[in-house]
Amino acid sequence: MAIKKSFYAKTKDGEQVDLFTITNSKGGEVKIVNFGGTVVSLKVPDKAGNFEDVVLGYDDLDSYINNECYFGALIGRNSNRIENAEFTMNGKVYKIAQNSGKHQLHGGFKGFDRVIWEAEIIEKNGEEVLSLKYTSKDGEEGFPGEVKVQVIYSLGEDNSLGLDYSAVSDKDTVVNLTNHSYFNLAGHASGDILSHELMIKADQFTEVDNECIPTGVVLDVQGTPFDFRNFNWIGAGLEVGHQQLDMGGGYDHNFVLKVSGIAPEKIAEVYEPKSGRVMEVLTTKPGVQLYTGNFITPGTKGKNGAIYNKRSGLCLETQYFPNNLKYKHFKSSILKAGEKYHHITIYKFTTR
Ligand code: BGC
Repeated sequence: MAIKKSFYAKTKDGEQVDLFTITNSKGGEVKIVNFGGTVVSLKVPDKAGNFEDVVLGYDDLDSYINNECYFGALIGRNSNRIENAEFTMNGKVYKIAQNSGKHQLHGGFKGFDRVIWEAEIIEKNGEEVLSLKYTSKDGEEGFPGEVKVQVIYSLGEDNSLGLDYSAVSDKDTVVNLTNHSYFNLAGHASGDILSHELMIKADQFTEVDNECIPTGVVLDVQGTPFDFRNFNWIGAGLEVGHQQLDMGGGYDHNFVLKVSGIAPEKIAEVYEPKSGRVMEVLTTKPGVQLYTGNFITPGTKGKNGAIYNKRSGLCLETQYFPNNLKYKHFKSSILKAGEKYHHITIYKFTTR
């Protein structure tokens, strides 16, 4: 693993954004910018050894600044939605930024996806890794406590993209971090992901209302298009249809995982039959949001002249369940003052 730093662009305020290119000896390559800690390119081989960029993204900083789809970005302080943008903690009601109607989505107006992270190439177990740090101020987007966050990106020799997230706060607060990469294993410019085959190790998923807010009800996947315990192609379920699929115009749901939380465990696998590319997902987190790019604006201009439409990519966002602060039976994303938040997610690329 080697990392090269280069100049990416300057913001309108003159702040410099750098590009970090991490490579392994097998030709695998991931490019990350410290604006939003965003993965802007990820090249892995197909079964014939041809490399292709398998994540959606843009060509320039301005597009990432307006990144309404959150392509590739780190999400925080809180991933996904908090109903009515408020929660109660220690008997007190906190009102946080309402950036999605009356709700909050992905941390507010200026979430961790829209800030410049302090980047440093460091060594971990004898390998170069990319450390990104950000200090979120007390009161930022309405959340209490100053939170110091670190995300370490690595690219293993086995083409595994690792994300090691840690955080600590000086007051009780909410921390629920994820990465919002949109994958298309046939290549980012190759059309929709409907023929991708998916497996998720989950017997249940969380029901949402017509604003994509979890209702607290947990549904069994058995007999529904949400049953990915055996591989199924994504288009199959969308064709069959389900009242829950009408809520967000496709899959936009959190699956209930059975992980110990101690070390990353395999929870999902995606297979693209033409290229033979496989992506395994391992995590310590209790949930994963399957999002099939339902809200991508048709005709979105992407990298190298690519045009993205609805379902051009799919996300598997590992996280605490959305809206967990409202329901006692959902694991809480409250981080107590002085305690350490630590989670790992790995996206591992192979072929078959
Ligand atoms: C959410 C979607 C949202 C998308 C982009 C996903 O994590 O579940 O509802 O549209 O992010 O913001």
